Formats: sequence, C-alpha cells, structure tokens
Amino acid sequence: MFGEIQTTAVICKNTKAHRDENLMFGHKIPLAETDAFEVLPVTGAILVQCDACGHEDLYEPSEISRLEFNVPEGFVTHPRFK
Ligand SMILES: [Zn+2]
Repeated sequence: MFGEIQTTAVICKNTKAHRDENLMFGHKIPLAETDAFEVLPVTGAILVQCDACGHEDLYEPSEISRLEFNVPEGFVTHPRFK
C-alpha cells in the first residue's frame, strides 16, 4: 500500500514528546487500515504503544478516530484489529 489510506488512529497522549511535531493534532498513531463504513472492532480500552516515542497508554474507543494517513513503512496492524 502506498500514500494516504483510511486508518483508525489515536493521538499519542505523551504530548510532551511530540511538542515540535504538530501542535494542532499531536502525533497520530495508526492502528489499522479501514474504510469509511467499517465499525470499530473494539468495544473497550486498548493498549497502544506510540511508534515514535514508545509511550504506552490506554485508549478508549471514543478516542479512536478515522484519519487519512500516510502509513509509514513497516506499519504493523494493532493486534486488536487483526
Ligand atoms: Zn508518542
């Protein structure tokens, strides 16, 4: 896959680590490829590790959003979305 795809993603809660990156939106962590109509496969909080700063935190389904994402090379789908 190349370029921008629809993903489910969360914003890293360790905002201090990403202060220089994107002040408006924070650091986005892609979880899985999705499409616009797919229902979230998770119903409870999931543990996500940031791909950049390594910070782990729990994210509620309400904190998971759909984003156009330029998926980095070596992107691995979050185990809860497989
Ligand atoms: Zn982070």
